[in-house]
Amino acid sequence: MTPSAKNSKVTLIGAGLVGSLLATLLAQRGFEVEVFERRPDPRTHGFLGGRSINLALAERGLRALRQAGLADNVLAQAVMMRGRMVHALDGTTNLQRYGLDDSEVIRSVSRGGLNILLLDAAERAGAKLHFDAAMAGADFAGGTITLANPDGTTRNHHANLLLGCDGAGSALRAAMLKHADLGERIEPLGHGYRELEIPSPGSGRFALEPHALHIWPRGHYMCIALPNTEGNFTVTLFLPAEGAYPSFATLPDVGAARAFFDAQFPDALASMPTFDADWNAHPVGQLATLYLDRWHLDGRALLLGDAAHAIVPFHGQGMNCGFEDAVELATLLAALPSKPAAVFAEFERRRKPDADAIAAMSQANYIEMRDGVADPHYLLKRELAAALTERAPTHFMSRYRMVSFTAIPYATCVTRERAQAALMESLLAGHDSLDGINLDAAATRVRAELPPLPQGA
Ligand SMILES: Cc1cc2nc3c(=O)[nH]c(=O)nc-3n(C[C@H](O)[C@H](O)[C@H](O)COP(=O)(O)OP(=O)(O)OC[C@H]3O[C@@H](n4cnc5c(N)ncnc54)[C@H](O)[C@@H]3O)c2cc1C
Repeated sequence: MTPSAKNSKVTLIGAGLVGSLLATLLAQRGFEVEVFERRPDPRTHGFLGGRSINLALAERGLRALRQAGLADNVLAQAVMMRGRMVHALDGTTNLQRYGLDDSEVIRSVSRGGLNILLLDAAERAGAKLHFDAAMAGADFAGGTITLANPDGTTRNHHANLLLGCDGAGSALRAAMLKHADLGERIEPLGHGYRELEIPSPGSGRFALEPHALHIWPRGHYMCIALPNTEGNFTVTLFLPAEGAYPSFATLPDVGAARAFFDAQFPDALASMPTFDADWNAHPVGQLATLYLDRWHLDGRALLLGDAAHAIVPFHGQGMNCGFEDAVELATLLAALPSKPAAVFAEFERRRKPDADAIAAMSQANYIEMRDGVADPHYLLKRELAAALTERAPTHFMSRYRMVSFTAIPYATCVTRERAQAALMESLLAGHDSLDGINLDAAATRVRAELPPLPQGA
């Protein structure tokens, strides 16, 4: 515990994934933490998720959980995914490994299970959690927030230091926007998602290979499936919201949806006995990227996680990035608890380039997942990347590996990826296979032209 942090009070809005981890990390560092969450306590009322039933946890997220002493508990509830299992239209499958071996895997975790584990940890560390308490407004000059009770009444709470972990639709952000221009820009993707299920065939068995993230890439849209420990898979269909067939607008009812699946994802549909009920029960979720020029209001309020930088989910990094935010902020605040304005400014300076970088990479990965994984030039680049990784491992690493299996800052991943991609294109010019390429000479060029990868990241 940092002695000066003792008795420093912080108020967190939102006890989702980032809020509950941040509450744990701050309480562990001696802060007096109060958390206000709009929803009822999921430990007594069940988890009212609303979006993605499971998520991919990668190395960055795991590092943050290790800091809180929670990684082993989370791993015990996770299913390892070694790579992408690509399902072609003719039903053939092909596993594209993510990493070099089983030390480089991502993990599927249940959002509800993880949230509950983090809430328990926050409470154990000493944080006070208040549920059914939605922030409805803030008086920054007076240092109070207004909380809405479920019965429609409101109450005020004194809150000097406000941290907004209340997600993409952040109420704290809305309150801050009334006081300052944060440069908010929301870019809708134009594609939505709908969640369906491949249930377990029984006794915890899996209908598909369990240790993979399954993808049915179909050009402008795709389905994915992530395994759950119970033996079922959560399936997500990503599709344009509007426009020509197929889009969600052109699938007005379950009959049309079934015909579409029958034509495009027949092997998946064959394992989905609850398709009709799932289609009717689950609404279409919208996807967008949120950009802000400023994340803080002097030393009074700061946004982090999705409240500051919601991204599209195609790199599986929103939570992972938010967990990195939580560690960075807890470390900075513990070092300088009496200087929140300086801490908030420094937090934004350190994290914003990385948040912008993962936003861009997540958009690019949608195109790669739905289209690229079946494209011959993409596959050739993967082959070359594997050969260069083997021959020049200190200088060459694919973007996916940098993002998922290291903590190399996201912004550095973008600049390195750009340099690597340009070099690969120049090596591949005039070739449609690796046959005519001297791979040892190519590796020598990589070592000469690219700086070494950051060590220990
Ligand atoms: C379809 C989909 C798939 C995804 N897959 C992945 C993945 O594989 N890997 C990954 O890393 N990320 C993934 N993400 C992103 C991830 O879900 C988010 O980045 C993450 O949930 C952000 O956490 P958060 O705590 O900032 O926000 P949230 O998880 O949204 O939590 C916000 C919390 O604040 C509460 N709240 C809201 N308003 C108020 C209020 N007024 N007062 C009090 N409390 C309030 C909410 O009830 C909620 O509990 C995915 C997202 C989607 C949509």
